[in-house]
Amino acid sequence: MSDSPRAELIKLETDRRLGHEWDEWDGTPLPRNGDFDSPPKLFFVWSAAATAVAMGLAFGVLWLLRPHLASISPRLVTVATWSVAILAALSWTWWALIAASYLLKRPLLPERLAERGLYLRLMSWTSRVASRFGRRDWVENASVKVYNALALIRQRKVKTGELLLLVPRCLSRETLEGVLEVAKRYAVPVFVATRGQLARRVIKERRPRAVVAVACERDMVSGLHDVAGKIPVLGLVLKLPSGPCKDTVLDLVQLENWVKAYVA
Ligand code: SF4
Repeated sequence: MSDSPRAELIKLETDRRLGHEWDEWDGTPLPRNGDFDSPPKLFFVWSAAATAVAMGLAFGVLWLLRPHLASISPRLVTVATWSVAILAALSWTWWALIAASYLLKRPLLPERLAERGLYLRLMSWTSRVASRFGRRDWVENASVKVYNALALIRQRKVKTGELLLLVPRCLSRETLEGVLEVAKRYAVPVFVATRGQLARRVIKERRPRAVVAVACERDMVSGLHDVAGKIPVLGLVLKLPSGPCKDTVLDLVQLENWVKAYVA
């Protein structure tokens, strides 16, 4: 019997509708053939704007509540104003530390205050702001790059059996074959997720110690938001040359690099 490592393909059945992130797609070709590759600095620009929007909303609510608070007690206005000002100062300090961690390639914040906690919230909020301006996919692409860079700084290692490779059902046949080759080479189990909920289920059942996840930007950001706080994840985004949810492709070299980043 051969001792060579074998890829393990796990499948779960589902009758749920697929690709809800793309419900509003009108069938027209995606910009740049579904390649939303963007520089990481795009995320910093948009996340700064999104933070400014959040702070503006906080000060706006404070301004609206001022008369009501003053009628109760003038001290309340002072306390509320200082609270919002301190929150704003902390938010910008934290944002600067995330940017410095990325630029210096050093973990200046604990995971819970960075890629496995607060950063995931910033990523989702920035995505919501960017979607208002039709820039969602580009900004999400950049945000996943920054997320991966922050995760890689930790230099976490696991055994091959402790890593799980999560891929979507929309991969083209050739791409899936390439993914299985990589998985076989490193003896990493592969799970083909037809829905994000099933991906979460298999993580719960298999209890991997780390995950390499593949998805389009939209699915990636929502998936990271739900999962990355519980388990270390590296994310690889797809290209969508045939539109969303069909015959998608990915960078197999990058996939192998992500697997190697975890597997010692
Ligand atoms: S990962 Fe694939 S199937 Fe899932 S929403 Fe994105 S394009 Fe559609």
